[in-house]
Amino acid sequence: MKYVNDSFTIKTSKRLEIIDITNYVESMVRKSGIKEGVLIVFEPHTTAAITINENDPELFEDLLHIYTKIAPIEQKYQHNLKYAGVPGEQNAHAHILSSLIKPSVIIPITNGGIQLGTWQRVLFVEMDGPRTRKVYIKVIGE
Ligand code: ZN
Repeated sequence: MKYVNDSFTIKTSKRLEIIDITNYVESMVRKSGIKEGVLIVFEPHTTAAITINENDPELFEDLLHIYTKIAPIEQKYQHNLKYAGVPGEQNAHAHILSSLIKPSVIIPITNGGIQLGTWQRVLFVEMDGPRTRKVYIKVIGE
């Protein structure tokens, strides 16, 4: 059994944005040399998330639209009232969505590749950008 840790940084450019990070993740799995095991993709932020879905710009728009229906940006939140006047802290919607969508995904590694479905991609969900974000990768297997 072997463990490989890796990470990368992404710069988001919008308040709400979905970025396909599959290519980064795949190259790190290849670099790890692990052929059978599991991959954990984890982002260490409270206002972002990681999910798996199709890479389609129109779908990204739909997802972001529905996310902001679930947790509207402009709404009375206790967190925002507490931090009124603090730059960058009017972001309760992003904390709530991060909690719902989750900060990580687990993907099987089979025959040296990540076992995604035909249309599945690993997506980073920014909900309080633009920011510089970190993504951690842990590959476990042999
Ligand atoms: Zn906050």
